[in-house]
Amino acid sequence: MYDLAIIGAGPAGLTAAIYAARGGLKTIVIESMAPGGQVAMTEKIENYPGFPEGVSGYELGGLFYQQAQNYGTDFVFENVTSMELMGKVKKIFTNQQTTIESKAVIIASGSKPRYLGVEGEERFRGRGVSYCAMCDGPFYKNKFVAVIGGGNSALEEGLYLTKFALNVIIIHRRDGFRASDIVLKEAKNNSKISFLLDSVVEEIIGDDKVKSIIIKNTKSAEKKEIPIDGVFVFIGTEPNTEFVPNYLETNAQGYIITDEFLQTNIKGVYAAGDIRNTPLRQVVTAVGDGAIAATQAERYLNSLENK
Ligand code: NAP
Repeated sequence: MYDLAIIGAGPAGLTAAIYAARGGLKTIVIESMAPGGQVAMTEKIENYPGFPEGVSGYELGGLFYQQAQNYGTDFVFENVTSMELMGKVKKIFTNQQTTIESKAVIIASGSKPRYLGVEGEERFRGRGVSYCAMCDGPFYKNKFVAVIGGGNSALEEGLYLTKFALNVIIIHRRDGFRASDIVLKEAKNNSKISFLLDSVVEEIIGDDKVKSIIIKNTKSAEKKEIPIDGVFVFIGTEPNTEFVPNYLETNAQGYIITDEFLQTNIKGVYAAGDIRNTPLRQVVTAVGDGAIAATQAERYLNSLENK
């Protein structure tokens, strides 16, 4: 029986583990892939404090992992398939038929960008195809970039990219936008932004990095090739909640709803990082969430003992 089970070994989960294990809680982290989460796939992080020269996501994820191990956290690298969270003893089931029992749970399984699913997207991921303007924008100084999507993220990130890029083409599959009028107006007024509407990306082409994209007009079916240095995809994100029981409250997008203490609607169950309804999904915010969730879980466990 563990005091605390943490699902996900990204920045939120590993920080929660550092706080919990250091605080003397018997702690386990369950992760389906390698430690580090999405951050381990980021080439360079320049906005995480303490690394003035920037740090590779892989290295940072490794350091978080090492620190969590140093305090005696247990790790299981298996896929969580389902959970029973209602009782005082929470149960976590994995694809390897392991059952983990714990008094408290922190769900920190993150989110993933929705992919376009076109030819070349996977091949050029990290070599011209990006899902994070804040992470990769500075690599596109005076370059030509395409932003895919018509929501707030696409337009806001497109505006952010104008700080670096010479020109930002926003490619959207319709001529109406999901983005708010104010953001749309700002984008339309920005001389570095141009729009290609009723258009979808059919293929991303390059050699060692992206060189061009094939665009198809959804109305005329006409195709054309556009030379481009970077493709930023912002067509929504998806929370990693496949294993989360449906009695756990989520918002319309499927992100877990928490209060300010990161408590979910179920006692003893917390959510931290990208998986929850948060206004900013960054390493630094995930780390803060991990610390709050772990200290609140510790309080919850103390209250159980006092009863
Ligand atoms: P979103 O609002 O769901 O927009 C996704 C966009 O991508 C839509 O324009 C959609 O087109 C397009 N799209 C989806 N799948 C596609 C595909 N396979 N191929 C091409 N285009 C595709 O997602 P989001 O922009 O990431 O925003 C998520 C939520 O966060 C929203 O509620 C948003 O308002 C909110 N948000 C708010 C702020 C803010 O308030 N400052 C900033 C960022 C995000 P269609 O429109 O045709 O479906």
